[in-house]
Amino acid sequence: PKDLSILIDSWEPPSYVNPPAVKKIYGADDVRAAIVNHQLVNYYQPKVDVANGKVMGVETLVRWRHPQDGLVFPDQFIGVAEDNGLINDLTREVISDAFSQTKIWLDAGLSLRVAVNLSMENLDSLEFTDYVTTAAATAGIIPDDIVLEVTESRLIKSLTTPMEVLTRLRLKRFHLSIDDFGTGHSSLMQLLDLPFNELKVDQGFVHGAASNEKLCSIYNASLSLAQQLGMKSVAEGVEDQADWDFIRSSGCDLAQGYYIAKPMPADEIHDWIIKWEANRVNLITPYD
Ligand code: C2E
Ligand code: MG
Ligand code: MG
Ligand code: MG
Repeated sequence: PKDLSILIDSWEPPSYVNPPAVKKIYGADDVRAAIVNHQLVNYYQPKVDVANGKVMGVETLVRWRHPQDGLVFPDQFIGVAEDNGLINDLTREVISDAFSQTKIWLDAGLSLRVAVNLSMENLDSLEFTDYVTTAAATAGIIPDDIVLEVTESRLIKSLTTPMEVLTRLRLKRFHLSIDDFGTGHSSLMQLLDLPFNELKVDQGFVHGAASNEKLCSIYNASLSLAQQLGMKSVAEGVEDQADWDFIRSSGCDLAQGYYIAKPMPADEIHDWIIKWEANRVNLITPYD
């Protein structure tokens, strides 16, 4: 009855109920302006060898230095860019910065591979292969220095062109990685026919898997799939000691997560690696 609606309108959740976090999603014009005005900045997160802790590479994660709102995370603008025909411009900004940064690190004597994230929309045109190949040459690096991570976040109409683009990129010797494995769409299974080098098990199946049988079985199934297909496995979202111990005993190849390092600005990576490399022997607890 009427009284009830009044009751509901005036109802307030008790203080112990957290209100849902309000996440601002930006409009296409804002995102376009961010790209044009070079407000996008790359952060980088280390990827380490699980067996010995050695730093094998870093993953490029874009952020938006918003003049008013501060540091804005990709889930607030990547989808907008994908939906509004802006993702190619965005990806080119990210790639050109990441590749010149790769050159700087390699020249400084660091041995690492730099990963960048691609949207399926980037793979919709055959020209993309030429763009990435030229960008690497211009930066003075080779495809072998680069890992291209692909996520299928939404259903794709046709995989014909993306599969051809990925094949061509692999033939150029770029490394290919399947990102967020276990969360995408089933058509990604078709991509398993492609020469992927790496499979990243989504963080949802890693963090907490040590104490959750269901997560643990999906995690293990993903790992054995990677093994059977000759791909390196990466555990994402290693957040604590329990996750780290769990993935170490699982035989996973690489690990990434807050337990190791958070994504950081480019100029912090060199010092972080030097420190990590000096300490990693102590940080790795032996299996037995
Ligand atoms: P992703 O490629 O799967 O990247 C991993 C995400 O997990 C990153 O979030 C990273 O900061 C976060 N992460 C890393 N370690 C941990 C951990 O231990 N615990 C938890 N809870 N999270 C962790 P971020 O930077 O917010 O990026 C989110 C997604 O946005 C990325 O997921 C990627 O799909 C997309 N993205 C980021 N940069 C780009 C880009 O340049 N282009 C495209 N197309 N997508 C991008
Ligand atoms: Mg990724
Ligand atoms: Mg991922
Ligand atoms: Mg993701």
